[in-house]
Amino acid sequence: MTDISALIAGIAEELRFADNRGKVANYIPPLALVPDTRFGMAVVMADGTVHTAGDAEEPFSIQSISKVFALTLALGAVGDQLWHRVGREPSGSAFHSIVQLETEHGIPRNPFINAGAIVVCDVLLGRLQPREAIGQMLRFVRELAGDDTIAIDETVARAEQDGGFRNKALANYMRAFGNIEGEVDLVLGTYFHFCALAMSCRQLAMAGRFLMGGGVSDGHRVVTEKRARRINALMMSCGHYDNSGDFAYRIGLPGKSGVGGGILAVAPGIASIAVWSPGLNASGNSQLGQLALERLVQRTGWSVFEPR
Ligand code: GLN
Repeated sequence: MTDISALIAGIAEELRFADNRGKVANYIPPLALVPDTRFGMAVVMADGTVHTAGDAEEPFSIQSISKVFALTLALGAVGDQLWHRVGREPSGSAFHSIVQLETEHGIPRNPFINAGAIVVCDVLLGRLQPREAIGQMLRFVRELAGDDTIAIDETVARAEQDGGFRNKALANYMRAFGNIEGEVDLVLGTYFHFCALAMSCRQLAMAGRFLMGGGVSDGHRVVTEKRARRINALMMSCGHYDNSGDFAYRIGLPGKSGVGGGILAVAPGIASIAVWSPGLNASGNSQLGQLALERLVQRTGWSVFEPR
């Protein structure tokens, strides 16, 4: 049996002095302050054992990884009705792109690009006040991770609220098509608070257990098996924006990245994996995070395309 702790410690060591670490996001000022030398990894196995390496206990801004949890909550609230307002196709465009919205009548390609996640927030606000939706999200990730210390970094949320001009443009543009129903400021405030969730690799990998376990986490059913399968499918096809094809090619796992440098990846039935390295590639995905996952799957055979 592979010693996963030793394996990820080895990967962390190999990547410690990597030259090409990518660039830390600077369009959200607090994120620019995070040193690019940080590196963490956590693997939770199907039997519940947890393996960590590097800075796996340090919370970081999960950013777009929150789109997975927001989608899960929205599907729980309105079910497949959601798909009238957001698509399920990879965009092939940048995470904050607006171009497709014009020809596609304000319907974003998928829930994992900014436009799609903003619609998902609007759907949640069809039933809840922003404060309640943010509270629901916080309770949800705390419960999934089994950790009540998870919090939202208000400094990050505020920084996004002060800047975030592209997101404001996206939301207003979709509103013009009738695909944002609530107040744009409230929808975005909710979206920014979701993005500002701060979690460590350990907490994130724990929170991803329901996607590893066919919808079951720690003995509790979170979503149906079918829904878990579908969320994983969306992560595989759309989780890395215009870099999703390459992620599937190199890593072969459902995964979702965020501009904080985190990636949540799922090996169904085997492991829930989180990795964090703040430097990003040109598509806004963690440069070393992807490399670490590539090495992990090469050495474990965890790609979903591996014959079993
Ligand atoms: N909060 C970020 C934004 O809206 C999330 C982007 C990301 O992680 N790719 O720009």
